[in-house]
Amino acid sequence: MNVEQTVMVQCPYCAESFEVLVDCSIGQQEYIEDCEVCSRPVTLVVNVSDDGNVSVETRGEDV
Ligand SMILES: [Zn+2]
Repeated sequence: MNVEQTVMVQCPYCAESFEVLVDCSIGQQEYIEDCEVCSRPVTLVVNVSDDGNVSVETRGEDV
């Protein structure tokens, strides 16, 4: 099983979608990744469920 998964997320600032690489071996994590389009820091809240489904929530600092 591949523990790294690419997930599409939407930037809270510019609303463009970009791909992030998620380490699914960690059940829950939160980190900051710069948007590929507008280069602003996006907070990514990653949840991995028991059956391996990955969900990523995006948050902006001032949105
Ligand atoms: Zn952006």
